[in-house]
Amino acid sequence: MKSTRITENVTQLTRAHFVNAYLVREVDGLTLVDTTMRGAAETLVAAASEAGGPITRIALTHGHGDHVGSLDALAEKLGDSVEVLMPELDARIHAGEKVVEGKLPGSWPEVRTRPGVRLTSGDRVGSLEVIASPGHTPGHVSFLDTRDRVLIAGDVYTTYGKAAVTSHFYVRFPFAAMATWDKQKDLESARALRALDPAVLVVGHGPAIRAPAAAMDEAIARANR
Ligand SMILES: [Zn+2]
Repeated sequence: MKSTRITENVTQLTRAHFVNAYLVREVDGLTLVDTTMRGAAETLVAAASEAGGPITRIALTHGHGDHVGSLDALAEKLGDSVEVLMPELDARIHAGEKVVEGKLPGSWPEVRTRPGVRLTSGDRVGSLEVIASPGHTPGHVSFLDTRDRVLIAGDVYTTYGKAAVTSHFYVRFPFAAMATWDKQKDLESARALRALDPAVLVVGHGPAIRAPAAAMDEAIARANR
């Protein structure tokens, strides 16, 4: 697993060259945002120790398998010392509820861990503000670090080569669009995230973009075509 320091408080962990999780430093330990695919629990815990703290919270951007894949193993390993937070609608989907009509695209593997907190817009996770950004999945959320406006945007955008909204096919990373549930909502969320004027954009798939306003504007313009 590759570890990249994004800011003083945020470290990007990249697995298999294509999927990211994030460690966010708080006064009481680290928040792990997303868990990548199955099989990463050991390396995520090791990366957290290296970053200087225990994982005290696991917050998920959405319920897809490449984000919740190592959740059960981590919850088992860390036990009651860790709080698990998942977006409301995606948590209900994982609990077996039918929350939307029709088939949900993307991978929704069996997850045994039930989150202690179901996230909705405006909630706080330490220094992170929860921003509703539905579309890629029904409950998808993003996290804005209120200390320095780093935006963890999950799968609303990808950033291979350039920023792209996951509402439309993008040749550098087509899987994200294939897994997107509601393309119109996803594009609206991309606009809402742009309006936050983040200082740094980080995502589930691809490298960080600093001062991302122009890159996000171009991505939205291409998605609009
Ligand atoms: Zn996804």
